[in-house]
Amino acid sequence: MDFLRPTTWEEALAAKADQPGAVPIQGGTDVMVEINFDVRRPPALLDLTGVAELREWSMTGGLCGVGAGVPYAAVIDELGGPLPGLAQASRTVGSPQIRNRGTVGGNLGAASPAGDSHPPLLAAGAVVEVESRDRGVRMIPAAEFYLGVKRSALEPDELIRAVHVPPATGPQYFSKVGTRNAMVIAVCSFAIALHPRERRVGTGIGSAAPTPRRALEAEELLAAELDWDAPIAPALLKRFGELCARAAAPIDDVRGTAAYRVHAIGVLARRTLTWAWNDHLEKRAA
Ligand SMILES: Cc1cc2nc3c(=O)[nH]c(=O)nc-3n(C[C@H](O)[C@H](O)[C@H](O)COP(=O)(O)OP(=O)(O)OC[C@H]3O[C@@H](n4cnc5c(N)ncnc54)[C@H](O)[C@@H]3O)c2cc1C
Repeated sequence: MDFLRPTTWEEALAAKADQPGAVPIQGGTDVMVEINFDVRRPPALLDLTGVAELREWSMTGGLCGVGAGVPYAAVIDELGGPLPGLAQASRTVGSPQIRNRGTVGGNLGAASPAGDSHPPLLAAGAVVEVESRDRGVRMIPAAEFYLGVKRSALEPDELIRAVHVPPATGPQYFSKVGTRNAMVIAVCSFAIALHPRERRVGTGIGSAAPTPRRALEAEELLAAELDWDAPIAPALLKRFGELCARAAAPIDDVRGTAAYRVHAIGVLARRTLTWAWNDHLEKRAA
């Protein structure tokens, strides 16, 4: 197996263009597990840890650009202010060791429906920046990035450079159901982001459909019926939970049944909206 070690982004793109079968490796917390268990034996590994710029984040053009190599630990320590939903989700990933190595870029690359970064990226309206040497840059909205179970819009000659996330303008929450409190892949998860200026609420469902997805009908309901100056009517909250549950399309597997996941998504949706709404009203009253 070849081991390619570019030190610049241009070298990395050239290596991927010349060897599209080379598997990128960042933190390695997914790739190494697959290699250890012989799930795949790629002709080459493309080690991106030498490309320093991937480990940086920056605030440009009103968006927070998180390099594909920024580990969860940095998201938690440095980005809790602008990206509270993503930071909250990052705190639930694996263990301290996994959070030191694992990255949001790797989560996107793996595109598992259970990946914890996806729901907050969907709720916030993130855009994934990918690039190939020969075809240049593509900016893909998170909602269009996930195509199927562990399948994304990334082409074989492309690499993920960064994910661009609008900084929070309102409360954001992430909630995950697991069989224990740490080191657990989500049975299901849910993220919410209030966008008070646009009078809009963003949602993200995790581990309850072939891909991470938004609950679009539920978002439309709130856009039409939410009074941003008043407590949420219990009937509206209930309907929101129902529509989020209806947006899920889970399967039975070792982690949980489809029926349980549908039920739990409804509960998480009501719960996270209640938390976010309480924060929103408290801020208004202050
Ligand atoms: C013990 C353990 C616990 C875990 N717990 C969780 C958890 O709670 N929640 C969760 O979501 N995940 C969990 N994971 C999975 C894993 O940690 C995450 O998916 C993590 O985000 C992967 O990041 P990485 O940098 O290690 O990716 P890598 O393993 O390096 O790569 C993952 C995938 O992304 C591709 N890739 C990486 N970088 C790029 C790039 N720049 N461009 C294109 N493709 C790229 C790789 O080719 C590969 O397909 C766990 C894993 C382990 C081993």
